[in-house]
Amino acid sequence: MSTALYPGTFDPITYGHLDIIRQALTIFDRVVVTVARNPRKDPLFTVEERIEMIQNATAEVGSVTVTHYDGLSVEAARRHGAIALIRGLRAVSDFEAEFQMTLMNRQLAPEIETVFLMPSEQYTYLSSSIVKEVARFGGDVSQFVPPLVSERLRHRFQR
Ligand code: ADP
Repeated sequence: MSTALYPGTFDPITYGHLDIIRQALTIFDRVVVTVARNPRKDPLFTVEERIEMIQNATAEVGSVTVTHYDGLSVEAARRHGAIALIRGLRAVSDFEAEFQMTLMNRQLAPEIETVFLMPSEQYTYLSSSIVKEVARFGGDVSQFVPPLVSERLRHRFQR
């Protein structure tokens, strides 16, 4: 059984992330979505809240496991027996950082491939940050994120 690891911040999960997960499931038998506990970023939602929203959104999607990790994503991939890392590529702006990270990961773990998937056009400009920005000012984000995420964002910014 082939497993791929999809690491990210997922603060929060969007329909862009979900599109990538669905595509990955057409190539791999199982996808482990793993939330980075990244101390350099200042997330809006806790790791536990992010995991719950991903679990809720992927409940019907197929063979998806949701978890979290600290440290290197290649180490997390090894722990889960994953043969590949999944990353989403939206625009040219994603390329430089992803390219650098992929080459570094290849040095660290040559046995793990990085697979880049492109979302459908309507999600190309979608990011967790822009969704938070719109929600912060009371905008409707229901076309960009799953219902539970919409609800959580509304709650968060109502306070
Ligand atoms: P990170 O902090 O690792 O960039 P994110 O949660 O923002 O974490 O993203 C995880 C992965 O999902 C990255 O590869 C990112 O490029 C990809 N991604 C994020 N949003 C989208 C989207 N709208 N379409 C496709 N891929 C996306």
